[in-house]
Amino acid sequence: MLSRTHPGTAAARALDPRIAVGALLTVYVAIAIAPVAIAYALPVKSRPFLDELSSGMAMAGFSMLLMEFITSGRFRAVSAPVGIDLMMSFHQLVARVLTVFLLLHPFLYTLPMTAARVPWDTDGALALGMTPWSLASGFAAWGLLAALFGLAWFREGSGMRYETWRGLHGAGAGLIALFGLHHTLDAGRYADAPHLAAFWAMAVAVAFGALAWIHVVRPLYQARHAWRLSRSERIAERTWLLRVEPAGAPTFRFRAGQFVWLKFHRALGRITEHPFSISSAPGALPAVEFMVKESGDFTRTVGSLPLGTPAYLHGPHGNFTLEGRRGKGIAFIAGGVGIAPVMSMLRELRRARDPRPLILVYGNRVEAQIAYRDELQAMREELRLELSFVLGEPPPGWQGPRGQLDAQTLQPLLPREERDAWLYVVCGPPPVIDSVERVLDDRGVPLGQIVSERFGYELAALTRRGRLVLGVCAAVVAAIAAGIAAFALR
Ligand SMILES: Cc1cc2nc3c(=O)[nH]c(=O)nc-3n(C[C@H](O)[C@H](O)[C@H](O)COP(=O)(O)OP(=O)(O)OC[C@H]3O[C@@H](n4cnc5c(N)ncnc54)[C@H](O)[C@@H]3O)c2cc1C
Repeated sequence: MLSRTHPGTAAARALDPRIAVGALLTVYVAIAIAPVAIAYALPVKSRPFLDELSSGMAMAGFSMLLMEFITSGRFRAVSAPVGIDLMMSFHQLVARVLTVFLLLHPFLYTLPMTAARVPWDTDGALALGMTPWSLASGFAAWGLLAALFGLAWFREGSGMRYETWRGLHGAGAGLIALFGLHHTLDAGRYADAPHLAAFWAMAVAVAFGALAWIHVVRPLYQARHAWRLSRSERIAERTWLLRVEPAGAPTFRFRAGQFVWLKFHRALGRITEHPFSISSAPGALPAVEFMVKESGDFTRTVGSLPLGTPAYLHGPHGNFTLEGRRGKGIAFIAGGVGIAPVMSMLRELRRARDPRPLILVYGNRVEAQIAYRDELQAMREELRLELSFVLGEPPPGWQGPRGQLDAQTLQPLLPREERDAWLYVVCGPPPVIDSVERVLDDRGVPLGQIVSERFGYELAALTRRGRLVLGVCAAVVAAIAAGIAAFALR
């Protein structure tokens, strides 16, 4: 819903982000291995190592799968301390691990799958004893998971519409959860225990609650708190300024740099919302502006929307903000439409008459893509701003810097002294972020002095930040694997 009292999540902001992230990861590991821990404590005979390993992997994998519904980037309390792009990287990386756990586990069993239990085998230590129904639900969940994984892996190259993919991804995940629940309760040796059955019922209910929240409850709320498109103007090549204003009483607040999920007049719950950074400053509320670059089927239509079209916002999201960050000066590096949240920040700094030295390096392919050129040039007088427009394909006679946002172009434009004391604010499409982060890595800028927002959810390249995310995920997976191993070896 729109935030009434706090832009972002107040609780998450009050906490030191490192503590918040540590707490979230601890809760994640605890929930992932909770079913394994409950099974560990049950008074049943242990089975051969591989069979216990297989059950442990299945239980932890299913628990991780159900948590994917919460780490999908739609819940502010979860994603605010981490940032949306890191949260999406985590979501995608653990998806790979849980898929391996779940797809592999049926092949590890050594006990007969379907042999009926003999009367003295009271707790299923000698045969898995699956019924035709549990086999069927297991096959269905297994096949769907393999298909979903293939779909996610090959989406970019397949030409499939993003909305189609998201619809299939959500529906597929919901079906896997249902088939998985049936399989677990019907075939799972340990799920006979009431504690574990209750855990699974609760976890599946939370996962479906999350889906219902996103696709039913939230759209209903949004329908009652609609906005209206009040301005639409082409401000650069294939780039639109869209302004929306609340149709009713204004309640929305945000911090400069944040984004919202935006959709225009469409059927309730349809998957048509897209993430867009707010380009206006909080001081311009109740009006909110966006800068939208035409890139696909949705963004290509925004320029033709009639004024007055109802709009629905969910947010604000993200922690790409200056609040709580220190810098002797601030160096902004924006690629293309990545200038949108930077405009919001600069406008806010101008309103606050911020006295610090500022640098803006704004890269585009051609001159016609430069947006807000006059306003930025005027800011040179209003702020201590050094401004550089970088062009990949400059026109004849272009005096400014030329090239990509790489080491060669950026080195002369970035602060020369006290580099570590500056804050570096980077925004744009993933390749720009990866390239700029590499340059900042080479300059030895501490990670804590870099704040970035990727306009896409592709996994980050192995820059220092990318390695950090990978390291954190590896630690989480190692903790879960240790829990499974302890269970299998008991
Ligand atoms: C945090 C964030 C902030 C952004 N801010 C801006 C901004 O201020 N201005 C701007 O022009 N662009 C912004 N983008 C990018 C913008 O969301 C995509 O360009 C837009 O969603 C593309 O939609 P499309 O249907 O026109 O293009 P498509 O061709 O359908 O999609 C192009 C790519 O955009 C991504 N995408 C598409 N639809 C969605 C969706 N519903 N949710 C998530 N990703 C999607 C997918 O990776 C897809 O491959 C931002 C992206 C993110 C993640």
